[in-house]
Amino acid sequence: MSQKTAILSVYNKTGLLDLAKGLVQHNIRLLASGGTAKLIREAGFPVEDVSSITHAPEMLSGRVKTLHPAVHAGILARNLESDEKDLAEQSIDKVDYVVCNLYPFKETVNKINVTIAEAVEEIDIGGVTLLRAAAKNHSRVTILSDPNDYPGFLEELNKGEATENSRKIYALKAFEHTADYDAAISEFFRKKYAGDGVQQLTLRYGANPHQKPAQAFVKSSKLPFKVLAGSPGYINLLDALNSWPLVKELKESLKLPAAASFKHVSPAGAAVGIPLTDIEKQVCFVDDIEGINDSPLACAYARARGADRMSSFGDWIALSEEVDAITAKIIGREVSDGVIAPGYSPEALEILKKKKGGKYTILEIDPTYDPPSTETRQVYGISLSQQRNDIKITSQTFSHIITPPNSILPDSAIVDLTVATISLKYTQSNSVCYAKHGQIVGLGAGQQSRIHCTRLAGDKADNWWLRQHPRVLGLKFKKGTKRPDKSNAIDLFVTGQAPKEDGLEKDMYEKVFEEVPVELTHEEKREWLNKLDDVAVSSDAFFPFIDNVFRAARSGAKYIAAPGGSVNDDAVHDAAKQCGITFVDQSTRLFHH
Ligand code: 5GP
Repeated sequence: MSQKTAILSVYNKTGLLDLAKGLVQHNIRLLASGGTAKLIREAGFPVEDVSSITHAPEMLSGRVKTLHPAVHAGILARNLESDEKDLAEQSIDKVDYVVCNLYPFKETVNKINVTIAEAVEEIDIGGVTLLRAAAKNHSRVTILSDPNDYPGFLEELNKGEATENSRKIYALKAFEHTADYDAAISEFFRKKYAGDGVQQLTLRYGANPHQKPAQAFVKSSKLPFKVLAGSPGYINLLDALNSWPLVKELKESLKLPAAASFKHVSPAGAAVGIPLTDIEKQVCFVDDIEGINDSPLACAYARARGADRMSSFGDWIALSEEVDAITAKIIGREVSDGVIAPGYSPEALEILKKKKGGKYTILEIDPTYDPPSTETRQVYGISLSQQRNDIKITSQTFSHIITPPNSILPDSAIVDLTVATISLKYTQSNSVCYAKHGQIVGLGAGQQSRIHCTRLAGDKADNWWLRQHPRVLGLKFKKGTKRPDKSNAIDLFVTGQAPKEDGLEKDMYEKVFEEVPVELTHEEKREWLNKLDDVAVSSDAFFPFIDNVFRAARSGAKYIAAPGGSVNDDAVHDAAKQCGITFVDQSTRLFHH
């Protein structure tokens, strides 16, 4: 049998001499590039320079070492007659083993103040070609790119030869090695050449201030949004990239402008642009905004912001339409972190740019942007990849009515179920959402138990409804009381948590009122809550127990949409029937994390 050949060209020379020794013991001919050959030779093992087969010297200060047909034809040749003939004509010998690892590009660019020229010199060309060529031809060639694999390889060699399985695993590793290397190179040049905010955006920090560095980027083309003002943080972007598709889908499904108010990657409110009643205007703190009902977008945002004012404090906003001045005016006086929308009228932009001393974050999204169908993220070093949840929620989603049989949903119920269900698609699970008048009225997000979602959302819906109680609408606040202080006081009042003990807490509560209100009694509340009806409830997964239905019923649920799949499905449907609730089998589970 003819002598086998190995080409060695390694930057990281760990384990090299033991490997060389093992190869030599098996009578394998060693060819190596400059530095690699030198080390092997100095250790006393027989080794030839690659130039002995290329008949060309290393040149351009090492930029060209192994790039030569004598090397690559030797690696890439198959055991085919035509390949053998080609090699014979050029007097090229087959190469059987390639040992290669690459210049330390990552380490170099991680150094502070590295220049582009320094980084460029660390871009390995020949090594990547060796790795790819040998990995491509792994059915015949063994490619070792990780020094940790040398001992296992030598063990196999001692038994005869590297197995087919090992060759496959080594080839995969080589492909991962070059892919990782190329990713590091493109990341470096993306930062240098693409311009901040075009393809890549440097963020101040990640989820917390100590999580640095942080960035957002796309691997090709441009980011689908522009930063018009401010500087978005990591959580802002998580909110923006969840709230935008929510409003976009709501608009597409219901053909109405839509708005969302996000906090910590779940909606605090979301709504479509249905005109507000006078009471709703008051509850949403927009009764002083002239002509609000002329702007469906302003109505949508007022509803989204007004659903749960406590949670919306410091929100991230998404709007489905070009922002008009009236919507900007509402945003302008609320405490908020930023907004994403497909455009801004000049007047709206001027209003928003004045917010937070010019630091208010304003993003303009390309409404035609269509994300890739597969999404990947890394958690604890592991990449997780999945098909994006691109299911469309339409009126058809609610066509399978379980109980009462043969019933038809009114349009208003379809609107509310759509608002609730699309909102859940972008809410951290588990989640349950109550909706009415085209808006979220209560959302329970991120609870590990379904009933806790249903209760939380129900309690929020109750609060929203109690905020419309004549006694709440009649609360007399001192002039100049700030909006968040009013919201806090109203929340304490409707939840029955107004402080009773004398002290600072009570003083704080009472000082916002012109006239300190007498608590709502249990009976007053119950009487009012009994009037809440026509509420639509959606759940992101099945109800495991009937308690959810009874809890929803207590907050006026008349329609429930939830997927099936529980052993208790029949009991859940029976409970709905008993409560006079129309139960829709919304067949798609909508977990979101
Ligand atoms: P040595 O220390 O043997 O001189 O160089 C080893 C390094 O050179 C390895 O990291 C290998 O990937 C790289 N290398 C091998 N051939 C070439 C080539 O033709 N051009 C360039 N730029 N690098 C090469």
